[in-house]
Amino acid sequence: AKCGQDGNFSEGEMIPFGPIALNPSSGVLNYGQGLFEGLKAYRTTDDSILLFRPEENALRMRTGAERMCMPAPSVEQFVDAVKQTVLTNKRWVPPTGKGSLYIRPLLMGSGAVLGLAPAPEYTFIIFVSPVGNYFKEGLAPINLIVEDKFHRATPGGTGSVKTIGNYASVLMAQKIAKEKGYSDVLYLDAVHKKYLEEVSSCNIFVVKGNVISTPAVKGTILPGITRKSIIDVALSKGFQVEERLVSVDELLEADEVFCTGTAVVVSPGRICWQQRSWYRVSAAIYFIDKPADGPGRRLARLDCATELGVIKCS
Ligand code: PMP
Repeated sequence: AKCGQDGNFSEGEMIPFGPIALNPSSGVLNYGQGLFEGLKAYRTTDDSILLFRPEENALRMRTGAERMCMPAPSVEQFVDAVKQTVLTNKRWVPPTGKGSLYIRPLLMGSGAVLGLAPAPEYTFIIFVSPVGNYFKEGLAPINLIVEDKFHRATPGGTGSVKTIGNYASVLMAQKIAKEKGYSDVLYLDAVHKKYLEEVSSCNIFVVKGNVISTPAVKGTILPGITRKSIIDVALSKGFQVEERLVSVDELLEADEVFCTGTAVVVSPGRICWQQRSWYRVSAAIYFIDKPADGPGRRLARLDCATELGVIKCS
């Protein structure tokens, strides 16, 4: 679907996946005016297709669009387009327990600009792909290296919205980490260089006894939908949840560390910081497609997630 700066989107159309024509002087190619979202559709044993809180992704895209001077689809338009795309591609949703259908909505400044300015025209696209585990480790702990040289976002920047440029800035740190054998990078804040921010594509939680702590959302980290859901579940199960500045030193004493995100689901983490040491963690929480038995506490399972806001797509 397309729209001008007024945000009145045209009726969308379903076209086969493939290259699209883009103006060389488009806002997205020249000035990074692009936003995206990430959702997953799961198939249940009775062959229904489930989406998890898609209206939250719609709202996050709207907040991001404001920051990037772009119009955005309404919550209704967004959710409807996601549902239609998933239903059209229903045969690509993997069987229960074999993965999910990743859904990628993209909003971009497709109109031409030469001088720095918001584009005069916008395009909203959704494409999908079946996916398995995000990390090769699957549900085994992932190895995260704490990064104190590169930063993902700075105060006043665009770290809290899902804009394409944020991901360009982490490519180098991620490449170096992967070359050294780590699964991903855990970023520190750019001002004090000692508080945890997030991982390249997920939020971070630190567990100590009955207290689950996670960096507060204050403009430099993405307000993850999985993060929010885990906080809801943890509170409902009687855990104390603290959203605050979490110092890197706290990793030394943590009982558990885990990451949350649509792609990574809930992945237990092992941390390496300044080559100092590895911190052992246990897998603690299972989410949506990970109801397997394992060590640690079982906080959230499919039934619990369903109560929280999984909606049926079919
Ligand atoms: N942080 C970043 C930088 C991300 O890209 C993502 C994935 N969208 C997350 C956190 C987790 O967000 P969510 O739980 O909404 O997928």
